[in-house]
Amino acid sequence: MRVIEEGLCKAGLWDVYERDVLQLDPILIHMQQVGMPLDGEIREDRAKKLAEKQAAVKAELEALTPIEARRIAHVYKKPPADVTGLNHREVLLRRVRCSVCGVENPRKDHFKRFVKKVNLCADAERRNCTEPGDEYYRLADYTPSRNQLIAYHNHLNRALPLVWDRKERRHKVSFNEEQMKKLILKFPCDKMYPLILDYRGLDKLAGTYIGRYIAD
Ligand SMILES: [Zn+2]
Repeated sequence: MRVIEEGLCKAGLWDVYERDVLQLDPILIHMQQVGMPLDGEIREDRAKKLAEKQAAVKAELEALTPIEARRIAHVYKKPPADVTGLNHREVLLRRVRCSVCGVENPRKDHFKRFVKKVNLCADAERRNCTEPGDEYYRLADYTPSRNQLIAYHNHLNRALPLVWDRKERRHKVSFNEEQMKKLILKFPCDKMYPLILDYRGLDKLAGTYIGRYIAD
């Protein structure tokens, strides 16, 4: 204790120790013993406001993420009847067509030889071809996750932030606060990084202090 006292005095921190630990402790203990009043209505209201704020930041993050860096949840083999909310892109599609008339997926009777009638496709065959066409796909719900950040970096050809893991004795990808602050300095025009920190701050508030708002 004497060493600690000396060190605190030398660093000019003895006053802080006295005020924030010695004097504050009895107050905190008293609060713990009698309990603190809780206003359920106000708490719920703040949780709701916090959730709205968090949703707004998340929407901003989603808008900043290029579509190519998003995870695709599903690719439709055929264009679905209802395409609302879906994305599409031009791709090379595999098709099987009649080599003469070009009809798609011709069946055996398409090449049938008749006695009285002439079938122009009688000598034709099924031909595999690739042709440009629209492919519909659905994006996975956006979350500002570690994987999403990795995809964002890969898409922009940016090096992934690495930290040395002492236990595993190797470099590991990390988007911890320190790395995020470095990224903000490295890419000052990129709004993604500061927004991610905002999001995490709100998430911490909601998860640890205010409580998450669950709409009924
Ligand atoms: Zn044909």
